[in-house]
Amino acid sequence: MGAPGFSGNIDPNRRRRSQAAFARAKQLMPGGVNSPARAFGGVGGEPIFFERGDGAYLFDIDGNRYIDYIGSWGPMILGHNHPHVLQAVQSAAARGTSFGAPTLAENELAELIIEAVPSVEKVRLVNSGTEATMSALRLARGFTSRDVVIKFAGNYHGHVDSLLVAAGSSAATLGVPNSPGVTSGTTKDTLVLSYNDPAGLEATFAEHGPRIAAVIFEPVVGNMGCVAPTADFLSALRDLTVKHGALLICDEVMTGFRVAYGGAQSRLGITPDLTTLGKIVGGGLPVGAYGGRAKIMDHVLPAGKVFQAGTLSGNPLATAAGIATLKLLRDESPYAKLEQLSARLAAGLDRAATVAGIPHTVARVGSMMTLFFNPEAVTNWEVANACDVEQFSKYFWGLLVQGIYMPCSQFEALFVSAAHRAADIDATVSAAAEVLAKIARI
Ligand SMILES: *Cc1c(COP(=O)(O)O)cnc(C)c1O
Repeated sequence: MGAPGFSGNIDPNRRRRSQAAFARAKQLMPGGVNSPARAFGGVGGEPIFFERGDGAYLFDIDGNRYIDYIGSWGPMILGHNHPHVLQAVQSAAARGTSFGAPTLAENELAELIIEAVPSVEKVRLVNSGTEATMSALRLARGFTSRDVVIKFAGNYHGHVDSLLVAAGSSAATLGVPNSPGVTSGTTKDTLVLSYNDPAGLEATFAEHGPRIAAVIFEPVVGNMGCVAPTADFLSALRDLTVKHGALLICDEVMTGFRVAYGGAQSRLGITPDLTTLGKIVGGGLPVGAYGGRAKIMDHVLPAGKVFQAGTLSGNPLATAAGIATLKLLRDESPYAKLEQLSARLAAGLDRAATVAGIPHTVARVGSMMTLFFNPEAVTNWEVANACDVEQFSKYFWGLLVQGIYMPCSQFEALFVSAAHRAADIDATVSAAAEVLAKIARI
């Protein structure tokens, strides 16, 4: 799979150590990685091993430098190795790495989250985005005493069993497991609908309303490439959940502190019942969080009866990185700069693909964006899935050779960080122009 013509252009001498390391890793870990998104499965070829990051750049173990547009899949909005974050983690480490008991840092991070995210009155800290969504679903089911959850095709909420569900082939709303090991019993309470389809949502509520505990959604999708919600879809989500007594769970693991300091909900004017956070909230260390109205959150143990716990939850190093990151974002507010740089990149990529004559669309919300190899605007998974992924992988490898590290899948949004400069953006655009022109000639 992938694009042999292009990956073959990489000078093997510049990848020797990565190749050897990956050969060894494959003997040690399934597929040689600890998370599949890193394995370059969507573009063919082998992943690169990194040694360090600095600002907008990554350095691999063969000594190559890359402009990084993955940012650890979202967390590194301030760039790598930010001195304030580093300092906060170092001084926390010197005081002890874990107590399993309350700390002031947990109060501080909780306060920052509650002040930032409009709908969150109380919050619980966990260790990953997956834990946050899993716990939010349990809480929603416990709070409503209902079983069924609605999710949308192409939205990703971590590897929660009941959410590893694909839309069934016949009935639009019948969930089937999309991973071996997920039982049909687990997924029978999950309905999968099409994103940006208010009519489908309405019909489903009409049929299953009294059984629906919650609707979980990405307020701006990052996990089928960058896809924005329509205003109609957003208001249907809120109106129908209120009307039928279901909770609305806004999964802001990617968008929280990314598309605005207060997340997509502050940018788009949504008021969910529960919000899940991760990625940026941990500043590059493992943190997740879920929160919402106090009345709902007080159902979580030990205030209430819904069980949820964690040995390392609120860990001192992780909370230190999260606090330092959020304070920098709050006080220095890089969002206008991110908007500007991202608009410059989006316009440049769009121009480059247009000049090359490659059918495409560019979608962007804040510093999340995707160049889709599809002339139709991507609004849901069906359209996303029609992208020319062969062209995408040529584009990916072409840029990689030029020292530009883009997400290794058509279905992942790229991220601009506050450490990128206009010169990085311009270098990326000219490399893309060259690569896209070459692809068009093949
Ligand atoms: C990354 C992501 C998750 C899962 O977070 P992990 O920390 O990888 O478990 C959940 N939801 C969304 C929207 C994400 O982007």
